[in-house]
Amino acid sequence: MEIACNRMAFALCDNAGLLILSGSEPISRKIGLPEQANRLTAMVQRRAAEAGIDLAKLDRVVLGLPRSQFPEMSSASQPGEAFRTTEPLIESLRQVIQGGFGAPLSLVNNTRMRALAEAQYFRGNESDLFFLGVDHEIIGALVLGGVLQNGSHGQAGDLGHVSVRLDGAPCRCGNRGCLEQVASMPALLAGEGLADPGELAEGILAGGYAEPLANAIRGLSQATAAVVTFFNPGTLVLGGSVMQLPGFFQSAKLAVLGSVPGRISSSLQVEPAAGDGVSGAIGAMILAFQSG
Ligand SMILES: [Zn+2]
Repeated sequence: MEIACNRMAFALCDNAGLLILSGSEPISRKIGLPEQANRLTAMVQRRAAEAGIDLAKLDRVVLGLPRSQFPEMSSASQPGEAFRTTEPLIESLRQVIQGGFGAPLSLVNNTRMRALAEAQYFRGNESDLFFLGVDHEIIGALVLGGVLQNGSHGQAGDLGHVSVRLDGAPCRCGNRGCLEQVASMPALLAGEGLADPGELAEGILAGGYAEPLANAIRGLSQATAAVVTFFNPGTLVLGGSVMQLPGFFQSAKLAVLGSVPGRISSSLQVEPAAGDGVSGAIGAMILAFQSG
């Protein structure tokens, strides 16, 4: 399952790992994580009942959340691993979901789950893939030899806090000029005094915001080019709400391809993220199945 910024989703598989049911609905950010989990649990129970699926046989639940919702999330990156926090918010989340399904719950980063779904579901088992999610936060996730890379402390891929402007403004992480400060959706909106991505998209279509967009693309391509050159994946997938802004994906693709050596760019597929709002949930489902 996944709770993202404004959307919740689930995907169910059978004992053979085949997707048997999935769904997605909008959700408000304002109601808080436990209530979001309540609504997600209710949605899954309702949809399963409509489809005649018995959830009493559920083996495990993996839930993807944005890292900003759960800083400790990376420490529980494998299903079955005990939570290493007693934080009340996480405990209440566990009570809601484990109580609703009677199955053990693991929490993971949702962007990493999208990378897993891209590699193993949407692109026919791509063994080497780098996924960059540019949304409220910026997370990269690398699949190498078919395996999602966690890093030694579960922090692999946190590109949003790579400094791309050494003289930039201080960031909450302690660095200066982090990528998230120039290329995340909140940064782009705040920089232009806007409240809504729709307003930003309209302004772009009217020919506005050229400079902040160019800065965002420069930062993203700089950070991504280094990763792509180092690991030489077959596919680079660019996803998230910022990539859906008019013309942004194409500009970002050209910028990355222009920032890496020719022998890398000539064989690199750069693709927009697939999925219809359920890709994070499908990745969580794959992880749950593989760890069963
Ligand atoms: Zn930072």
